[in-house]
Amino acid sequence: MRIGIFGGTFDPPHEGHRKYACEAIRRLSLDRLIVIPTFIPPHKAFDGVSADDRLAMTRLLFEDEERITVSDTELVRKGKSYTCETVAQLREEYPDDELIFLVGSDMLLSFHTWRKPEEILRCVKICAVSRDSSADEASMRRYIDEHFYEDRDRFIICSFTPIEISSTQVRNAVKNGEPTDGMISEQVRKYIIEKELYL
Ligand code: ATP
Repeated sequence: MRIGIFGGTFDPPHEGHRKYACEAIRRLSLDRLIVIPTFIPPHKAFDGVSADDRLAMTRLLFEDEERITVSDTELVRKGKSYTCETVAQLREEYPDDELIFLVGSDMLLSFHTWRKPEEILRCVKICAVSRDSSADEASMRRYIDEHFYEDRDRFIICSFTPIEISSTQVRNAVKNGEPTDGMISEQVRKYIIEKELYL
């Protein structure tokens, strides 16, 4: 099987995440995709909403996608959610399957600063998409050649036009009472309103 893994803070999950997940399934011929919200993201100062709320919203975003499952593995593990630990665990669980970890260009371009990037590359391939024109495919290729030349075959660039949205933009829109049309799903919007998140 070809299994995708999509980690993130998902604070909140948005249509950009959904489009990337669905395009990756199609373009990489994934049999399934495991979406894994972080408990504590190691790469950014975090004072966002609770992990349980982020997990619940992520489940709502992906509930109609039959190949996608949302996993609570990093919430169960607690502590900082290091990708090297998550992918090592998945490698043990799926010893014979191909594992591909999805990232956006912002995350790819800091990959050399992640904990144990070489070990991550031993467990999974990395698929990256350009999130906006500031990091096009050529600059991602240059980055890979500069930092991971020996392992360059472990990287895949996924070429499609993403939706240029971030969770930061969604949080700001909710806080400022601006419309979130097209940014988040109806179910996620309802959850945010009911729980009075991001105000
Ligand atoms: P924030 O604005 O809070 O930093 P974010 O929108 O970047 O959040 P994350 O949950 O941190 O969302 O992202 C999880 C993963 O999804 C990362 O690899 C990120 O690069 C990728 N990603 C986020 N938004 C998009 C998008 N619009 N298109 C493609 N990939 C995305």
